[in-house]
Amino acid sequence: MMKNLIFLGPPGAGKGTIADIVCSEHGFRHVSTGDILRQEISNRSELGLRAKADIDAGKLVPDEVVIMMVQEKISPDVPGVVLDGFPRTVNQARLLEQCLNDNGLGLDAAVLFDAGTDVIVKRLTSRLVCESCGAVYNLYTNLPQADYKCDKCGGGLVQRSDDNENTVKDRLRVYKEKTAPLIDFYDKQGLLIRVDAEGYPEDNYARLRKALKL
Ligand code: AMP
Repeated sequence: MMKNLIFLGPPGAGKGTIADIVCSEHGFRHVSTGDILRQEISNRSELGLRAKADIDAGKLVPDEVVIMMVQEKISPDVPGVVLDGFPRTVNQARLLEQCLNDNGLGLDAAVLFDAGTDVIVKRLTSRLVCESCGAVYNLYTNLPQADYKCDKCGGGLVQRSDDNENTVKDRLRVYKEKTAPLIDFYDKQGLLIRVDAEGYPEDNYARLRKALKL
């Protein structure tokens, strides 16, 4: 079975939502560098305070910061891992390869979640997240049961500071320039799997399961 997976794709492609489902069904570890960074910011740690300016500007946090966070999470003791939003540069991909090798692990697939710009911008600018547990909602397609309260933990729902239209445009530009080259990088290694991610999460998950034989 495929178990060490990279989820690749533009912001708003639904990587985090599908990673949550895969990990809860298969007991894999969900490693989202974005979630870890947001946690650091809310803990007001030194790392978080340093990363905040880059995140709010839609820029990437330096490679050496994110690889350190990922290294702590990679271990041969878990049944599998989904790396969500990491790697985001070719340099990060090389550092990851080294880190997996050091742990006697390898990569099984890099899944590209494919969605067009219009769909992505609409999804991101209408996304709401729980301040307490990070659960993700959407103003059009996935409203919580109570007004602006998380179904899972009752926390307040807010818009991410980087989900406004201007920052979204910057994030998409950064994706094209720095992250999209990874598509070719993993394709050449025979690891790339493309999944159409424009529809509803359950349909996208069904396509992913079929592609990965999960
Ligand atoms: P995400 O939640 O994946 O959309 O990430 C939110 C923000 O965190 C990004 O726009 C970056 O500023 C930062 N970030 C997350 N993952 C990485 C990464 N692998 N490399 C550099 N910056 C990252």
